[in-house]
Amino acid sequence: MNGLIAALLRDFAAIQTSKQRRWGYQRAAAAVLALEEPIESLIQPDGTLRKIPNIGPSSSRVILEVLQTGTSPTIERAIADSGHVADVERRRDLQGNFLSRSQVLAALRNRNLVGPQIADYRGDLQMHSTFSDGSQTLEDIVRAGIDRGYRFCGVTDHSYGLPIARGVSMEKLAQQHREIDALNRKFRGRFRLIKGIEANILPDGSVDMLPEELAQLELVVAAPHSSLRVAADQTSRMVAAVRTQGVHILGHPRGRKYGARPGVTADWDRVFAAANAARVAIEIDGDPSRQDVDYQLAKRAVDAGCLFALDSDAHSTGELQFVETAIAHARLAGVPTDRVVNCWETERLLDWLRSRSR
Ligand SMILES: [Zn+2]
Repeated sequence: MNGLIAALLRDFAAIQTSKQRRWGYQRAAAAVLALEEPIESLIQPDGTLRKIPNIGPSSSRVILEVLQTGTSPTIERAIADSGHVADVERRRDLQGNFLSRSQVLAALRNRNLVGPQIADYRGDLQMHSTFSDGSQTLEDIVRAGIDRGYRFCGVTDHSYGLPIARGVSMEKLAQQHREIDALNRKFRGRFRLIKGIEANILPDGSVDMLPEELAQLELVVAAPHSSLRVAADQTSRMVAAVRTQGVHILGHPRGRKYGARPGVTADWDRVFAAANAARVAIEIDGDPSRQDVDYQLAKRAVDAGCLFALDSDAHSTGELQFVETAIAHARLAGVPTDRVVNCWETERLLDWLRSRSR
């Protein structure tokens, strides 16, 4: 219900002509998506909605309408009158299988689901530091990781091929590796930082770093950041990416964004079969606006025998909790805990990383 209402409020926002109202409904949609409880539990005995920050009176009226009738005649009428019906329908296609915060918490609590739990999770393998577009220092990552009960984290700043995200040069990467070595000495036996990178998958499926550069890294997440709005099939691009020597994780495989872009179109069963053959892990990216791959697609990767990486894609220590969204999708997909590389002992993880790098 939270997801349905948030989607309707976003539709409503999209057809507003006043910038201020558009912004107001967007903010209300975000507030509903972030609720920790089902919105129906916030109805008071007199039938009104309890006060929720960032949700104004006209959003409240719409919410009550949906709770009473399952839809919002007000919004549907406004869409029909707006002349933007096709636009709204296109956007609705881009919201498939996104979980609201309340659904994430329900999946984490649901004991009938198999799959990893937060307590099984030993470290995050995709995140960004101040070396590229993140706001967390390397030491912040270590301390936040220890606070969360982790034993390791992979630092995966953007490669130099993505200047828009302040991709790191090879010189800066060398400096980062010296800092990582120092932190690993300081926290020896307690925590291990892993030298990683998020490399771009180019249109031909190769990654935007040279083999001798990849060889300097312990962890390579290869992810698509271009051609994410084209309808043409890109199976061969993604298959080539997972077959690339030195790649460990296929990061946010589709590159979709909530309500904004569909991402890569591919025959995913073929991609997953190739990933499994290469022992490359399929990522579930827990950034709430990505949720990529989602539980439905993840189920097909389970059937293909794939390994999984459940990552936050955090750009600040506060975002490390995004991984809960990834864990929720894994539980809904029935991913066996032993196939989640983040749940492995540190040595087993490092062995797997080294076996792919050779
Ligand atoms: Zn990325």
